Amino acid sequence: MNLLALPAFADNYIWMLHDGRLAAVVDPGDDAPVQEALDRLGLELAAILVTHHHADHVGGVDALRARLRGPVYGPAREAIPEPFQGVRDGDEIALAGTRWRVLEVPGHTAGHIAYVQQDTATQPLLFCGDTLFSAGCGRLFEGTAAQMQASLARLAALPDDTRVCCTHEYTLANLRFAAAVEPGNAERAAYEQRCRAWREAGRPTLPSSLGLEKAVNPFLRCTVPEVVASARAQGAASAAALDVFATLREWKNRFR
Ligand code: ZN
Ligand code: FE
Repeated sequence: MNLLALPAFADNYIWMLHDGRLAAVVDPGDDAPVQEALDRLGLELAAILVTHHHADHVGGVDALRARLRGPVYGPAREAIPEPFQGVRDGDEIALAGTRWRVLEVPGHTAGHIAYVQQDTATQPLLFCGDTLFSAGCGRLFEGTAAQMQASLARLAALPDDTRVCCTHEYTLANLRFAAAVEPGNAERAAYEQRCRAWREAGRPTLPSSLGLEKAVNPFLRCTVPEVVASARAQGAASAAALDVFATLREWKNRFR
C-alpha cells in the first residue's frame, strides 16, 4: 500500500492509500486534489473515510461520488453528506485487502472517529483527523477536556511505531507552544530542527509516529514534572493530569 499526503486548502492533508489500482481517501475537504491524484496515477476510487463532520473534511465528498466505486464511511453519530455508512467504535472495515478498526475519539467533535490499520506486515497506520496533531491536539469544539484526554490516551495506547496521519500541517506552530511548555525537552528541540528542514524543502512533517509524539507532544505528557510545573504556573488547579491537560489546552488557545 502506498500512502500519500495530498495538500489541500492552506494546511490540510487529504490522505490517500493506494495499491496501484484502487485508492481510498480520508477526509476529502476538497475534491480537486483527489481528482488530480486519481487521474495522474490512474487509480479507481474505492472508498472514502471521514473522521468528523467539519467542512474542511467533508467538503469534497459529494463531488467525488461520480467516480466512487464503494462506500463513504463516516461517524455514525455525526451528520455528514448523505448517503454514508455510519461506523462505530469497534467496527471493522475492509479496504483493498487490509482491515481497519474504528475508534471513537470524542473531544474535537462529539462523534469524532479514528481509523486504525494493524493487520499487515507494515507499520500500523492511524488516521486520527483533528484529534491528535504532531506536537499538539485538536481544539475542544464539542467535547470536554476529560473526553479529549481519554481519546488521546486510547490513541497513545497503540504501538509506538504507529504512523500518525493527522489532517493538518500544524507541527511547527505546535512545536513553538511545546517549547514554551517544556523548554528542557531536548528531543522536542531536535524534532523542531528536523521539521524546519522538511518544511523548507517543501515536505510534510507527517506522518509522525506515536513513539515520537509521546516524547515531544505536551498534551501526551501531562504527568511529566516540567509540563506539570508549566501548567501550574499558568493556573492549573492541581497537578492532576486532567487539570494539567485542561490548562494546556486553554493556554494553547491564546498562545501566539
Ligand atoms: Zn475539525
Ligand atoms: Fe480540520
